[in-house]
Amino acid sequence: MLLEEFQNIVNKKYGKKISDCDNREIYYAILDLVKTKTSEKEIIENQRKVYYISAEFLIGKLLSNNLINLGIYDEIKNILKQNDKNLSEIEEIEPEPSLGNGGLGRLASCFLDSIASLGLSGDGIGLNYHFGLFKQKFEDNLQKEYKNDWIEKESWLNKTDVVFDINFGNTKVKSRMYDIDIVGYNHGINKLHLFDLETLDENIVKDGINFDKENIEKNITLFLYPDDSDEAVRLLRIFQQYFMVSSGAQYILQEEKRKGHSLKDLYKHICIQINDTHPTMIIPELIYLLMQEGIRMKQAIDIVSKTCAYTNHTILSEALEKWPTEYLYKVVPHLMPIIEALNMIVCEKFEDKKVHIIDDNQVVHMAHIDIHFGYSVNGVAKLHTEILKDSELNHFYKIYPEKFNNKTNGITFRRWLLSCNNELSDYITSLIGDEYKTDSTKLENLLKYVDEDDVLQKIDEIKSEKKKQLKDYLMQTQDIQIDENSIFDIQIKRLHEYKRQQMNALYIVYKYLQIKKGILPKHPITFIFGAKSAPAYIIAKDIIHFILCMQEIIENDEEVSKYIKIVFVENYNVSKAEKLIPACDVSEQISLASKEASGTGNMKFMLNGAVTLGTLDGANVEISELVGEDNIYIFGKKSQTVIEHYQNKDYVSKDYYKNSPIIKEIVDFIVDEKVLKVGQKENLERLYNEILNKDWFMTLLDIEDYIKTKDKVFDDYLDRKSWLKKSLINIAKSGFFSSDRTIAEYNKDIWKLN
Ligand SMILES: *Cc1c(COP(=O)(O)O)cnc(C)c1O
Repeated sequence: MLLEEFQNIVNKKYGKKISDCDNREIYYAILDLVKTKTSEKEIIENQRKVYYISAEFLIGKLLSNNLINLGIYDEIKNILKQNDKNLSEIEEIEPEPSLGNGGLGRLASCFLDSIASLGLSGDGIGLNYHFGLFKQKFEDNLQKEYKNDWIEKESWLNKTDVVFDINFGNTKVKSRMYDIDIVGYNHGINKLHLFDLETLDENIVKDGINFDKENIEKNITLFLYPDDSDEAVRLLRIFQQYFMVSSGAQYILQEEKRKGHSLKDLYKHICIQINDTHPTMIIPELIYLLMQEGIRMKQAIDIVSKTCAYTNHTILSEALEKWPTEYLYKVVPHLMPIIEALNMIVCEKFEDKKVHIIDDNQVVHMAHIDIHFGYSVNGVAKLHTEILKDSELNHFYKIYPEKFNNKTNGITFRRWLLSCNNELSDYITSLIGDEYKTDSTKLENLLKYVDEDDVLQKIDEIKSEKKKQLKDYLMQTQDIQIDENSIFDIQIKRLHEYKRQQMNALYIVYKYLQIKKGILPKHPITFIFGAKSAPAYIIAKDIIHFILCMQEIIENDEEVSKYIKIVFVENYNVSKAEKLIPACDVSEQISLASKEASGTGNMKFMLNGAVTLGTLDGANVEISELVGEDNIYIFGKKSQTVIEHYQNKDYVSKDYYKNSPIIKEIVDFIVDEKVLKVGQKENLERLYNEILNKDWFMTLLDIEDYIKTKDKVFDDYLDRKSWLKKSLINIAKSGFFSSDRTIAEYNKDIWKLN
């Protein structure tokens, strides 16, 4: 049946047999097949519907995931095999949409998968950035940015007839909706609605990622978050955000009217989950639109406040959005009277200026709008929510204790196990059946095998196979040779000082110097990094530069390269993550305690049998509680201590440097002549001075404990049986981190869809 259907598509498209097509032709034919199959599926309907609005959806490639969720992955794989084709080669043809920066956007995509897979009615609302986030290349040991041209003529995007006018102060533009079908695992479908500027002009992008920032009629959906270094770009971000929320709000109200619902009952039929503060303007926009429909302001505010819920993703103060009223007057003058009215309501009720929406400097605090005029506020891991309640948002918690709740993040096991590591998932199925695919807690049934040698050995073999596959991939794509028998120590995530890639780099310096002194590692180690830095984030780019310099130094040193090697994977994205994570032995989750709201990379690694080396931060705390202290390596100061250092302003990195000869030696190496020979003096000195004189994210606070603990990890790795046991326990305990569990909790506590 499926074979016939597929043959028909190929025949109609190309007039030839499957076996005569090249991989690209096959890819487009499967795309057609999947889109046909999907369009035959029913749209999921419940009593209520959620709209998940987010400036980012890091969806990754969709081919295999859609095949898996449609239940035809194995069949297609076999059909291709019989025609001498290889599905994993065909997957390589698909361009990866880069509609997100990192964790936050990837979370939104995992959530859409789980919402559909649980049979819940929920659509995504976002933007169709033509060039997404930039594509990263390394040149002269530096990050260079290029545009990522991901949209092809035939793609997952379906153009719709839905078009809206978007009114800015003195400009009006048109927005068109494009849809991507979200296929649930063994279920119907939901939609991801991506809005796009009708008059966008890709040709205004000149060399790299530069373009005319002021040409709003042509630029709004060109890129994701152009860096916020100057006023034109900050304004453009507000244009983008308003373009998204106005399109989304108009669409939601149009749907409600089509269904014959009274807009006064909006909150009875739908809810809107606001992913971080980027979509916050949907609150005043909805109030504005309801007033246009003849509803009085007071009632409009009441309706919207019962409709919107807010998720907080960070306590980094620089990431909490604040816009000067002057900017908002320029971009959305019609919303300002509403924002001022909301502020008045707050000022009348609460004297405490810390909870006001507009501060004394005429700056609008976007999160404050969400908290006052939304019905739920959630953090994304237990520790994060506690920090919100106890310190960051304590003033609000005292006012609205009932609004605050925790929803520990999760990941979709369809992508992060079944699709990226089918060797492991097939083996798990052979041991405990496939119930775990829909009820992830069933993975705990693996615990009964922790002392069975043949099971542990098989886990080891699968890991080796995935390491071998990664080795081949790196050879083909970056011409890098790695030793598959070495320990794979992996840190892949956005580059940020709080995530402390610099600490990992300093450990490598320590190892390098040890080898030079004749103290040799007992087993070779491959240190793997993958990370993009924001184009305007100078120090982050300096950290990349330093790591690339260390890579070159070690590569060219015969004495050292026998034992350690650095690999920096270019253009880290979802597809690369899917290849790296199953091959990992040691998962680096080393953020400064209190700074990583949750992390989701940590969960993907655990699910694939890596052992975590981490601080008690974000969801690492929950991982550690689940697996127990014997099956995770925890180091570093706890969040309470860190928070106190900030409060007392008493962390002085130079004291740590002065008091420890080891720290002094490794930090000084950043500007050693060996490094200066392969790198840029300006960048290296800047990084050196930053760590010595500022070190805002306290690298030197934890580095000695990090070195000690990491040395122990590499020692313990050699006791194979005991290591494999840790690995199996991590897999068995990872069920809690399925996004199906997270979404079930959102539904039960916040959305109440069915
Ligand atoms: C999961 C994921 C992230 C988030 O990783 P963290 O370690 O939680 O920061 C970022 N980027 C990609 C491509 C991912 O798949």
